[in-house]
Amino acid sequence: MIETKLKQLTGIDQYESILNFDEPNIVRGLGRSYGDQAVLANGFTLKNRMSRIIAFDEDTGLLKAESGISIAEIIEVFINKGWFPPIVPGTKFVTLGGAIANDIHGKAHHVDGTFVNCVSEFTMITPEKGRLICSRSENEEIFYAAFGGLGLLGWIDTVTIQLKKIETSYFKTEAVKVSNLREMIDAFSEYDQNYRYSVAWFDPLAKGESLGKGVLSLGNIARLGEIDSGKQKYPLKLHSQKKLDLPMFLPNFALNKLSGQILNKIIEYSQANAPELTHYDKFFFPLDAIGQWNRGYGTRGFIQYQFVIPMNDEYKILKEAMNLISSSDCTPFLNVLKKMGEGSKYLSFPMEGFTLAIDFPISKKLPALIRKLDDLILSAGGRVYLGKDAFLGKEVFRKMYPQWEEWQNVKLQLDPEGKIQNETSKRLGLLSYL
Ligand SMILES: Cc1cc2nc3c(=O)[nH]c(=O)nc-3n(C[C@H](O)[C@H](O)[C@H](O)COP(=O)(O)OP(=O)(O)OC[C@H]3O[C@@H](n4cnc5c(N)ncnc54)[C@H](O)[C@@H]3O)c2cc1C
Repeated sequence: MIETKLKQLTGIDQYESILNFDEPNIVRGLGRSYGDQAVLANGFTLKNRMSRIIAFDEDTGLLKAESGISIAEIIEVFINKGWFPPIVPGTKFVTLGGAIANDIHGKAHHVDGTFVNCVSEFTMITPEKGRLICSRSENEEIFYAAFGGLGLLGWIDTVTIQLKKIETSYFKTEAVKVSNLREMIDAFSEYDQNYRYSVAWFDPLAKGESLGKGVLSLGNIARLGEIDSGKQKYPLKLHSQKKLDLPMFLPNFALNKLSGQILNKIIEYSQANAPELTHYDKFFFPLDAIGQWNRGYGTRGFIQYQFVIPMNDEYKILKEAMNLISSSDCTPFLNVLKKMGEGSKYLSFPMEGFTLAIDFPISKKLPALIRKLDDLILSAGGRVYLGKDAFLGKEVFRKMYPQWEEWQNVKLQLDPEGKIQNETSKRLGLLSYL
């Protein structure tokens, strides 16, 4: 259990005073990272509650806001004006600061790239250099190092982001059932031409001939003429605020191969039978419909393991990873397979290839499985997503992210005394200059 001092910050002056203390600190957004990057033992974990809108250009869609505003709040304000955040993760409850710190990717990464591509500028308060404006033309190195920089360079204060024009809040979707991994990989390529957004689910317990059987879900934002105005009365309909809350933690014994199988059958059915016209909330953020869904994994908790591997050997490596998972004693629950395009710089996760994310409840055998998967991914030239990671060690991390040292040089300029830390930076040795 990590003991931290939690503090809610509503003004940047409060943060500047904390930086003058000797105690280390880390900023926290909405805490949607799966691992240990938004917490810090023996220091301050500072909850970012700064979420005001500063400026919006109705003609261009350029928005300037404080970094604690969430994707959900941006949608709530701008959807009826026909603007939407262009790159969103699988939940809308993330802040702009958190989206930058993990350089998040969405369902169209192979076309749109990561979050860096929709941000034109941010301001950041750093221990050594104070307040900096960072963009592609000013402090360029710091600008790129902050994307995927795990909140370790400074407090991102304001963010300027380009929103995307939309005609409706619906997606024209198609579901393609595939019977094995080869068909899955081919289907991604085949349907790429017609659909911008794609994501697949596979049966994690399938073996042999049916290894990789699953459903590829595809979608494009619907144009006005593509929706039925009789049924969809409001083309720019906002998501519902109602959600079903999991009232308590499920007992740990409920998490077993059988419950895993039942859950995966339900997912298979709902993915394969998704309506042709789907609201963005269901298409982008299906888990948001269940409040505190993490309680479903019991009190022991869970991890999500996400990796990316380059294109050349994707069939062989994905097959090996799926075999390792299905033959382990660990129970795989939710999973997501996506295609990725070119990556960015420094500690940003993506690279051109395939990425697989998969949930596992914590168990005694899990660390051994994760170590095997880490070795496989490293040998394939791939890497693990730090936004989800909880296990990676320093040595493997350095091989997976060879630009770590260049990143650390930027950190050294901004924070020579290592005032900003988190549990991830300790585990990965990201402040080795201290
Ligand atoms: C259901 C679900 C689905 C997800 N799907 C995806 C996905 O499809 N793609 C993807 O890329 N990620 C995905 N994620 C991960 C999520 O997008 C990231 O972990 C994101 O960073 C969380 O943002 P947050 O505001 O909750 O930040 P937190 O989790 O609170 O913090 C994350 C990091 O951001 C830093 N940080 C936060 N605010 C600031 C700030 N103002 N200045 C500097 N640093 C700051 C923190 O220090 C920390 O290092 C998913 C997570 C969940 C729970």
